[in-house]
Amino acid sequence: MNGAVQGNQSPIDIDSRAAVPAAGMPELHFEPTAYRLDGTHYMPAGDQNWIILDGVTYRLVQMHFHRPSEHYLDGRQFAGEMHAVCQSDDGGTAVVGVLLSRTDGVIDLAATPVNLAAVVPDGRVFRYDGSLTTPPFTEGVKWVVYEAPVELPWACVSAGARALQPKGATLAVTSRP
Ligand SMILES: [Zn+2]
Repeated sequence: MNGAVQGNQSPIDIDSRAAVPAAGMPELHFEPTAYRLDGTHYMPAGDQNWIILDGVTYRLVQMHFHRPSEHYLDGRQFAGEMHAVCQSDDGGTAVVGVLLSRTDGVIDLAATPVNLAAVVPDGRVFRYDGSLTTPPFTEGVKWVVYEAPVELPWACVSAGARALQPKGATLAVTSRP
């Protein structure tokens, strides 16, 4: 039995009209941070970045970029996608995904401290339970994908992009009250 692949895989084509309205807007706590490039992952110096999702704190452990985007939105793929990978004390994983309409920014992310808050847009977020998009494709990942695409101000290396997966868990959409 392949325990890693059970039917809630990522990425998916986000069908915005099928998303179920729900509470649960993530709280983001991001600060200017230096990042060190390790392969295709940008590793933060320090633990001053975290999110709170459904009352659980997840700390940023790395961020990386995909070109083109892994998630689609209503059938549309974007130039790129940023993933901020966060983990809770009990081993849970949450990923903040931001769709990128342009990925040719000029700031050298490995040389200049940056604030993730400069990239995350306002507006609605889509949430669903999915998986890592790289081996071992572990499930149980809390996905938070922002609806509005942004232009990335930073130069970044790409981790490639996994193909779309069949839709699994329920898709929810959350906005500020
Ligand atoms: Zn990723």
